[in-house]
Amino acid sequence: MSRPEALFPLFGKLESLAGIGPRTAQALAHMDITRPRDLLFTLPHTVIDRQRRDSLRGADAGRVATLEVTVRRHLAPARKGRPYRVEVEDAQGVFALVFFHARADWLERQLPVGARRLVSGKVEIFDGVAQIVHPDYMVPPSRAGDIPLLEPVYPLSAGVAAKTMRKAVAEALALVPDLPEWIDPALRAQEGWPGFRTALLGAHDPATPQDLSRDAPARRRLAYDEFFAHQMTLALARARRRRARGISSTGDGALRRRVLDALPYRLTGAQARAIAEIEADMAAPERMNRLLQGDVGSGKTLVAFMALLIAVEAGGQGVMMAPTEILARQHLSALRPLAESCGVVLEALTGRDTARARKARLAALAAGDIDIIVGTHALFQKDVRFRDLRLAVIDEQHRFGVAQRMELAAKGPASDVLVMTATPIPRSLALSQYGDMDVSVLDEKPPGRQSVATALVSAGRMDEVVARLAEAVAQGRQAYWVCPLVAESELSDLTAARERFEHLRAALGEDRVGLVHGQMPPAERDRAMARFHDGETSVLVATTAIEVGVDVPNATIMVVERAEHFGLAQLHQLRGRVGRSSAASTCLLMYRAPLTEAARRRLEILRRTEDGFRIAEEDLAMRGAGDVIGTEQSGLPRFRVGDLESQAGLMALAQRDARKLLREDPELAGPRGAAARMLLWLMEQDRAIRLISVG
Ligand code: ADP
Ligand code: MG
Repeated sequence: MSRPEALFPLFGKLESLAGIGPRTAQALAHMDITRPRDLLFTLPHTVIDRQRRDSLRGADAGRVATLEVTVRRHLAPARKGRPYRVEVEDAQGVFALVFFHARADWLERQLPVGARRLVSGKVEIFDGVAQIVHPDYMVPPSRAGDIPLLEPVYPLSAGVAAKTMRKAVAEALALVPDLPEWIDPALRAQEGWPGFRTALLGAHDPATPQDLSRDAPARRRLAYDEFFAHQMTLALARARRRRARGISSTGDGALRRRVLDALPYRLTGAQARAIAEIEADMAAPERMNRLLQGDVGSGKTLVAFMALLIAVEAGGQGVMMAPTEILARQHLSALRPLAESCGVVLEALTGRDTARARKARLAALAAGDIDIIVGTHALFQKDVRFRDLRLAVIDEQHRFGVAQRMELAAKGPASDVLVMTATPIPRSLALSQYGDMDVSVLDEKPPGRQSVATALVSAGRMDEVVARLAEAVAQGRQAYWVCPLVAESELSDLTAARERFEHLRAALGEDRVGLVHGQMPPAERDRAMARFHDGETSVLVATTAIEVGVDVPNATIMVVERAEHFGLAQLHQLRGRVGRSSAASTCLLMYRAPLTEAARRRLEILRRTEDGFRIAEEDLAMRGAGDVIGTEQSGLPRFRVGDLESQAGLMALAQRDARKLLREDPELAGPRGAAARMLLWLMEQDRAIRLISVG
């Protein structure tokens, strides 16, 4: 398939527009504007009000005034370097138009004495008298139409004059063909949205300042167009995956019942809901592609295990993959007791297995003697064969981008897929980043969890902190002490951590303190972790962030040094390592003064709330979508009109509508389908176009 001809001019070179030469084109490129099409979606952010007034009298300095004047006389500069002044008279008085480095003959032609002129420009007060320096407009009253009442102001880059930009936009708008409507007519009617072309013209030519609002119909429609195009891509990917060979897995629930009966607690409502959603997906003949999203400690592991048991009950196998070896081991130790309680065979495949052990395990897996296997993501690519793989659980931790995940799914098994993510994501981002998946949310924590008391402590109070830690340790409590990577060199960070380790050993006792860091041999690291887990050490000093997912319920104190260097999500994860039992927990965020304003706000948010979703929302508000998920690797398009932060509802609408369209017209062959293809071209959804092409 190739781009529809009607769109060719919009994808031509910028230089094809009158008034744009190579230099302007280059300057525009800095704003990510490389084709006329890009200009369409670069909307004015404000307007200059050029509505006419009678007199300059009473006009505010710094505001633009537009008024009719009579030219009285020209006052050429008395000395070099002084401005040229033209005295004019309005309805109530006399004032001056001021020009620097002006050519007298040109000014005399523009402003002949005795002539009437409409002038518009910024008001300045000089020596208590109002004046206009270099008016933006000076036209005879017969050409009043040259001055827009509300002049759009575009974001500018150096090297592009406002006028050039306005002209370029106008030219680009003239290239927009009449396009068929891709929005559901009922939705458009209900929202009161104009057609695409009308919306573009309106958004670029605001009639009132309210037209600049995100909620103005024209702008909302264009935002929707962007979101809809993105959601069409995701919906196409989803539809294609669902069409692919799927397995229907249903179990009798016997294994699950045995596990639940053996647990000392009951499922939370959210866990039960998620399991039911997964069960329904697995029973369906389509391939499941579901995201399990939940805050730290919300109990994702148990949900994942229940899903794996459905696969086993159905006579098949399951695999659980983690991004790192350590996390894979964590999963292993969390799942093993659960597996034992129902007699399911669970094994791990790690990089540390001997060749012989590995061979035996692979053979057992192929023979179906292992029900569930745990390992790293490498399990995906390796020559691992299953007898009957039904479910792959992918513990994502560090989020994959849309593109990465699509690749992974293409390479991966034909089995159902459950992706777990430990970091809550605001709804709008979840919709855009995971719109191709179905989502289960664990928005409820197991009962009886104590909140973690969080305090900000300046590094100057180190001695006090260590003294309090010594008291806590004497009472049998355990603590993590995190030293972040701060310096450019990992080596000097390591030195800092070692020093802290020695310092704490001196204060708390030689064998009460352990140390783990990235440079350690894995076996040694495991030993240090195990000793902490078993309570042999009371304090664990760690350089890099303690891996997400570490579970030592007896640890109730988390100290983070130089907390100002961590992101919100990371700090929230770290804090989630404590507060995992019914005992009271504390988190000390130590910082080195002075804090930047942004760092102080981050730390304050953590002090105020423990709700991962709220923290994620605040993070989004503070940093913007690109930084929260990393637009580069997220595969998210940069929306030029739509705003992820404030328009989550619109994104949800786009998702529903895109899925509905594909349900009704899977080949996009009908009139609306054809219109939607046009939109995909216009919005450069190449991935979607490829998906359509391969059918
Ligand atoms: P997550 O992976 O979502 O951070 P985990 O699965 O590690 O959370 O669960 C955290 C802790 O909560 C574990 O110790 C687990 O045994 C416990 N847990 C899980 N579900 C429940 C529940 N319904 N009631 C009480 N405790 C639970
Ligand atoms: Mg976990």
